[in-house]
Amino acid sequence: MSELSELYQQVILDHNKKPRNFQKLEGANRVSEGFNPLCGDQLTVYMLMDEGVVRDLSFVGTGCAISKAAASMMTQAVKGKTREEAQVLFDEFHRMVTGELDEEAEENHLGRLTIFAGVRDYPARVKCASLPWHTMHAALEGEETATTENLGPDLTQAAVSE
Ligand code: ZN
Repeated sequence: MSELSELYQQVILDHNKKPRNFQKLEGANRVSEGFNPLCGDQLTVYMLMDEGVVRDLSFVGTGCAISKAAASMMTQAVKGKTREEAQVLFDEFHRMVTGELDEEAEENHLGRLTIFAGVRDYPARVKCASLPWHTMHAALEGEETATTENLGPDLTQAAVSE
């Protein structure tokens, strides 16, 4: 990951080592499984949705450092948000990592999540970073599974490298 910024590396490593909200959530009323076949990332998102608000959110799973850090930061960002706010964050994050949103020029609510902007230069990594968001979104929609398989450009030829 030598190409990536130092801040990015520090944050990814920190969240990978000490993922936040990394536990099964007792009392969750939404549970979604996410899978990124390209990298092998797998996670389960637990959500407690109450009156249109994400009261609590957690995840468990295995995967690369980017997917784990992205999941950790996703739970921090979405916890306590309304369904609409969570949807906005999902859209903005997805547009940022696919290069449709210029996080520096356009108004957005991403805050520290903008450190993931760099993954757009590494197509195989976009799915690692967005998997937790797609899984959270599936939970928001009451769906039980999310996969990155049919998302974005065909990346089956893209190299996966650390
Ligand atoms: Zn990955």
